[in-house]
Amino acid sequence: MAATVIDGKASAARLRAKIADDVKSSSTKPGLAVVLVGADPASEVYVRNKEKAVLEVGMNSFAHHLPATTSEAELLTLIDSLNADARVHGILVQLPLPNGIDAQKVLERIDPRKDVDGFHPVNAGKLAVGQDGLVPCTPIGCMILLRETLGDLKGLNAVVVGRSNIVGKPIAQLLLQADCTVTITHSKTKDLAGVCAQADIVIAAIGKPEFIKGAWIKKGATVIDVGINRITCDGKTKLVGDVAYDEALQNAGAITPVPGGVGPMTIACLLANTLKAAKK
Ligand code: NDP
Repeated sequence: MAATVIDGKASAARLRAKIADDVKSSSTKPGLAVVLVGADPASEVYVRNKEKAVLEVGMNSFAHHLPATTSEAELLTLIDSLNADARVHGILVQLPLPNGIDAQKVLERIDPRKDVDGFHPVNAGKLAVGQDGLVPCTPIGCMILLRETLGDLKGLNAVVVGRSNIVGKPIAQLLLQADCTVTITHSKTKDLAGVCAQADIVIAAIGKPEFIKGAWIKKGATVIDVGINRITCDGKTKLVGDVAYDEALQNAGAITPVPGGVGPMTIACLLANTLKAAKK
């Protein structure tokens, strides 16, 4: 039997509606500052979508679109002023930054209480030791989809493919907190197919189109495909995930599509983090 398709769009819409209600009844109007440096076309689309979503739930959006010639010192000065601005509860610096700007230095300059991307080492550390902090948006979104699909995750074998600081590692931490038995895999993993075949949950976050084959998926497993890859097929460009979707559909119990799976959850969780930062 073909897998259930996990509807990330519907789940994100529910979360956004709940956030909009919360914002209405909140005494402080949450505000998110989005900083974009340069004119990378993909980043411009992401930033536009984020700013639109912020306004739709009734929050303040503070857009800072800077030229590619902006220096690191100028960017750090802007971050300092946003850190000090009481109307701004969340600060997001869209990555990648132009060459010559040290992204890590910029991310570390953000006040951890306003770090709605959850990339600051203070928030990464809090996640690792199980303290309440701001957690990266995509991993939170994956956990919501998993809980809606499976309920209690206790004792399940989860395999995370990819170990980046923004996706793989934080997802692994959250799965561990949910009492899963977690295996983190990466480009040096031996027998990735064999490791994936043991998994009740597969999280794919590598950035390689349709790399994970359907035959690697255990019958009935839940597959969360984080990957977003643009490919050309029959002269047309389309988005595909890191999992060979049509094949995996035959083995999985449930699977997220690309697009329409994890992607919409990421923006909804950014709004949730901004609300959380404002409430604190
Ligand atoms: P990174 O490039 O930072 O990390 C990729 C990871 O995949 C690395 O840990 C790398 O291993 C691992 N990897 C690469 N090749 C293999 C392989 N052959 N076998 C096993 N592991 C491999 O990517 P990100 O984590 O930033 O993003 C991953 C994907 O998720 C991308 O497609 C990105 O576009 C997408 N994404 C989607 C989001 C959404 O909202 N849906 C949000 C963020 C990202 P190693 O460490 O050994 O190099």
